[in-house]
Amino acid sequence: MRDSVTTSLLDAFLQRLKTAPSSALLLDYDGTLAPFHVDRNRAFPYPGAISILEKIAQSGRTKVIIISGRPIVELRALLAPMNNLEMWGTHGLERHLSNGSYSCIPINEEDAVALAKAQEWIVTAGLLSRAEVKLGGIAIHWRGLSPAEAKSVQSLTLDGWTKIAEQSRLKLLQFEAGLELRVSHPDKGDAVTSILADLEPRAPVAYMGDDLTDEDAFCVLNGHGLTVLVRDTYRETNADTWIRPLQELIDLLERWLINISSK
Ligand SMILES: [Mg+2]
Repeated sequence: MRDSVTTSLLDAFLQRLKTAPSSALLLDYDGTLAPFHVDRNRAFPYPGAISILEKIAQSGRTKVIIISGRPIVELRALLAPMNNLEMWGTHGLERHLSNGSYSCIPINEEDAVALAKAQEWIVTAGLLSRAEVKLGGIAIHWRGLSPAEAKSVQSLTLDGWTKIAEQSRLKLLQFEAGLELRVSHPDKGDAVTSILADLEPRAPVAYMGDDLTDEDAFCVLNGHGLTVLVRDTYRETNADTWIRPLQELIDLLERWLINISSK
């Protein structure tokens, strides 16, 4: 929760930005930089937040990196024209560097077989219209359904996929309005580990996110940087501090920009 300790932690972190030659700002996308939307292809970023983020990225003092469960192709479309951002998509399986280069980690055979089984289950369960098949995982979405319909899709999916998860190395993840069955690694924590390895060791690093999948990233970064839960309501978290979208996010990004702009 927010108290004087976490507030001073945040203040001390922002203070370090004034003198650090380089720093990194890692952000989740949905729920953090963009409000949720029934049509997930229309979940565009908050204009107020993105304009400050653009200035932070252009400063040359802070590397801005997006880390999301979404595929790179979707992130690029939603964040256009900010295509010079580094993006880690599909929980770190895909990587798009600021120079435009792209790389992807291959899925092993055992995981691919288990995912094919999960896909067959979706067809049998009649959930194909709610499914999103992505690299290394399958998601079932229930945003836009009535509470009763959403509960029914959730319990049906949980029942079918828990069995598949138990018989494989896949993991079942709950997100804002859906479930995803996917490869255990990489996760967002693995992505942060790789990013940290490429940064100057003493560079201040912060991670902001709202999802349960962001907890992996919080755990990796704790002790090395600032971790921020961005969410309307507080929940148990490994993050150092908690802010609410949108105004508190904008305030934090503005303070970041001011501090890296100071001589
Ligand atoms: Mg999110």
